[in-house]
Amino acid sequence: MSDCIFCKIVKGEVPSAKVYEDEHSFAFLDIMPAVKGHTLVIPKTHYEAFLDIPKLKLQALISAVQKVTKAVVKSTGSAGYKIEMFNGEIAGQGVFHAHFHIIPRDKNDSIEFRADKNWWVQKKDLYKEGEKEEYAEKIKKRLEAV
Ligand code: AMP
Ligand code: ZN
Repeated sequence: MSDCIFCKIVKGEVPSAKVYEDEHSFAFLDIMPAVKGHTLVIPKTHYEAFLDIPKLKLQALISAVQKVTKAVVKSTGSAGYKIEMFNGEIAGQGVFHAHFHIIPRDKNDSIEFRADKNWWVQKKDLYKEGEKEEYAEKIKKRLEAV
C-alpha cells in the first residue's frame, strides 16, 4: 500500500528505530511509546488486521513476536510484558497495517491508561536524547546473540 506508513518503514522510505527483520516480519520501536522499549512487530506485506494475515505468514509473524519479546524483556530487564493487537477502529487500531505491540511492564513503570481503558497514554518525549537508539541497539544485540 503506497500511502501506508508501516509499508514505508519496511521499504526504508520512512526512518525507524529498527530492531529486527527477517523474510516475513519487521520490528521497530514505537514512535509514541507507552513505556521505554515499546516495540512493534509487523508483517512485511500489507495486511490490514489479524484476520487478513494468511496462516503461514501469521506463523512466521508470531515466531518473530516471540523472538523480539524475548530480546525486549531481556534487554530492558522488565518483570513482565504485554503483547497487544488492536483490530478495527472501534478496538483502538490507528494504523491499518497489522501490528503487535510489545510493552515491557514493571511494578512502578510509567504506563498510564486512558479513561476508556482501550488504550494507554502515548508519550512523545519519553526517551532522552539518543536513548531510543540505545534501546534499539540493545534489543538488536540480544537478537543477534540468539
Ligand atoms: P494502533 O494502530 O492503534 O495499534 O497503534 C499504532 C501505533 O503505531 C501507535 O502506537 C503509534 O505510536 C505507532 N506509530 C505510528 N507511526 C509510527 C512511526 N512512524 N514509527 C513508529 N511507530 C509509529
Ligand atoms: Zn502497510
